[in-house]
Amino acid sequence: MIKVLVNGALGRMGCTVVNAVKADSELELVGAVDAYEGEVEGVKVETNLDAALKKYSPEVMVDFTRPNVVFDNVMTALENKVSPVVGTTGLSDEAKEKIRELAEKNNTPAFIAPNFALGAVLMMLTAQKIAKYMPDVEIIELHHDKKLDAPSGTAELTAKMIAEVRPSHKQGHPDEVERLSNVRGADYDGIRIHSVRLPGYVAHQEVIFGGLGQTLTIRHDSTGRDSFMPGVVLACKKVRNLRGLTVGLDKILD
Ligand code: NAP
Repeated sequence: MIKVLVNGALGRMGCTVVNAVKADSELELVGAVDAYEGEVEGVKVETNLDAALKKYSPEVMVDFTRPNVVFDNVMTALENKVSPVVGTTGLSDEAKEKIRELAEKNNTPAFIAPNFALGAVLMMLTAQKIAKYMPDVEIIELHHDKKLDAPSGTAELTAKMIAEVRPSHKQGHPDEVERLSNVRGADYDGIRIHSVRLPGYVAHQEVIFGGLGQTLTIRHDSTGRDSFMPGVVLACKKVRNLRGLTVGLDKILD
């Protein structure tokens, strides 16, 4: 049994993770932490992460909290030699580099996935393949209106993966003018990213490729938070066998 502590246990994702960990025969839920005390699925929720890690000695800490606290949470886990499995988005490249350094120094593997849904990972890998042949591409990500950060980690990672294979170039008309600011979206190496926030959505993304006389669109929809759970459970089981920092669910799929 792998001992797991869930941080952010009272949140939308956190309480789904609590259930998934409890339901898995190879995982044992030993603790739950959030910003406020409470109870989830009969499990007491505490507020001091460092104290809870010391008290319960988990092997893995799953983090679904907030972009402004996730870095400190991960560093606290690594200082306690507990492997973080991180779903919280918003970590900068610089923060990830510091996480990598501490993970290596403390010989405690860490895992981050901007998207734990298998379909989303397949969408990103497919987008990267298509971009070699259709390099003009825009990304539209759509999420619920409680999401704090934009663009989504998935959209950013998709753009990064496409940029690895796509010759850098500016898209659209060279003399294009934005009459409303940012109406053309964010610019990642020439790739436009558009973020939609509305009630009713969970997590969705379209990647649209344009070519001569044709377009090709791929789309992934997470219609429920359970879509992320097989990926989270897999990461809990595999993280201790990794080294340093691993980013992306595709790295641990067989
Ligand atoms: P949420 O419902 O707001 O849950 C976050 C929880 O963390 C809340 O209960 C929050 O408490 C708590 N929290 C805040 N500060 C904390 C701290 N210092 N220590 C412990 N807990 C703290 O958000 P969510 O929808 O579950 O999403 C959480 C994160 O996961 C977001 O970054 C989201 O983008 C990401 N996400 C990732 C994936 C993926 O596949 N990687 C999928 C879905 C979502 P308060 O509300 O009291 O602040």
